[in-house]
Amino acid sequence: LSTDARRVLERIDEHNVDFLRLQFTDILGTVKNVSVPASQAEKAFTEGIYFDGSSIEGFVRIQESDMRLTPDPSTFAILPWRDRDDGTASARLICDVMNTSTGEPFAGDPRGVLQRVLDRAEGMGYEVNAAPEPEFFLFEHDEEGGATTKTNDAGGYFDLAPKDLASDVRRDIIYGLEEMGFEIEASHHEVAQGQHEINFTYDDALTTADNVATFRSVVRAIAAQHDLHATFMPKPIARVNGSGMHTHLSLFDDGENVFHDGADEFDLSEIAKQFVAGILDHAPAVTAICNPTINSYKRLVPGYEAPVYVAWSDRNRSALVRKPAARTPAASRIELRSPDPSCNPYLALAVMIAAGIDGIERELDAPDPVRENIYEFDEQRRAEYGIDTLPTTLAESIDALEADEVVLDALGDHAAETFVAAKREEVTDYRVSVSEWEKDRYLETF
Ligand code: GLU
Ligand code: MG
Ligand code: MG
Repeated sequence: LSTDARRVLERIDEHNVDFLRLQFTDILGTVKNVSVPASQAEKAFTEGIYFDGSSIEGFVRIQESDMRLTPDPSTFAILPWRDRDDGTASARLICDVMNTSTGEPFAGDPRGVLQRVLDRAEGMGYEVNAAPEPEFFLFEHDEEGGATTKTNDAGGYFDLAPKDLASDVRRDIIYGLEEMGFEIEASHHEVAQGQHEINFTYDDALTTADNVATFRSVVRAIAAQHDLHATFMPKPIARVNGSGMHTHLSLFDDGENVFHDGADEFDLSEIAKQFVAGILDHAPAVTAICNPTINSYKRLVPGYEAPVYVAWSDRNRSALVRKPAARTPAASRIELRSPDPSCNPYLALAVMIAAGIDGIERELDAPDPVRENIYEFDEQRRAEYGIDTLPTTLAESIDALEADEVVLDALGDHAAETFVAAKREEVTDYRVSVSEWEKDRYLETF
């Protein structure tokens, strides 16, 4: 048993943990649990825990449905919202999914997909740091306990109490996250009513993806304790700011931030610019993974601080990639503004990073930054600047994904095929539905 694993066993004892939730995510980023009595912990570390993966989205294929979970001891955490009166506690461990017949990582495990891309970056000498900025809404429940889109506060950007009634809830969410080991950097009320953002410290990309998955469950669970529904749906209310999950990225080599270049006008090294160029080059396919729902494309429209155009900027929030102002050697980084919190964080980070390192490998040139508000450009002006538009629908971005060998390769055949199949089905289901908007617009007109 490794030292880390032994330490986990001690903590299980100390905290009187009775059940362990072994977690992993399916292809859509939904957290799945296999719960085992804490007495199985040692066996989980030595032999792994076997389970039937045939009912998990993106895992299927009956003949290879036996999977094995191998817990990562560094992810051990006591679940704060499961504290019980009898002094027992529940804990979780995030797991890698292994294929039992080959003993290799299972190709459909999103965490394994990200790990593979990070291994490639490491082969080039880079360690990837990432920090997400997930935004979400808090809504009230209706009489039956279903979610509504009624907000419980009238706060606005950075407003404090008494207007920001939800700040109590946000405080409890932050305590819960801190108990699970998060270091919270900032939290604030976002632009829209009922909308919030909580930022946690950057970490290596794998830990960050784990953190996003954990973050979403903690936020939902603690909101529910306050009888509120937390949603990461990208655009829950029409004509109001949606929820993004901007992602900050930098590459380190031996503890040195290789994105930093104090002598450059923008404090971006050549490598950083190539990385940005790679992201811009693969933007349409990356969008399929970072904006994976029908609703995601209702957010990517002009006027709501979400990106629409494929460009980068050192100041302006209408661009896809922004260079934040911080110029210190450690803090130099780029911000990708398209991802939304409905994405699978493992796959999203995998494709952003793969796109960026492809730019480095091909030594791509980044275009000049665009400093004006691109929302206000007309088509002709965009053409002059050579600015493309992001896909406007899920169907369009899936087409782009299927045409992008670099991004497909980052996902691997299994994950790419199951993702595309699930999303094509979602597109078809949407096509045959009739929306409220259509009824409002046409029912009485025709
Ligand atoms: N809510 C905006 C979005 O959809 C972002 C606002 C911000 O700049 O934080 O991306
Ligand atoms: Mg924000
Ligand atoms: Mg941001």
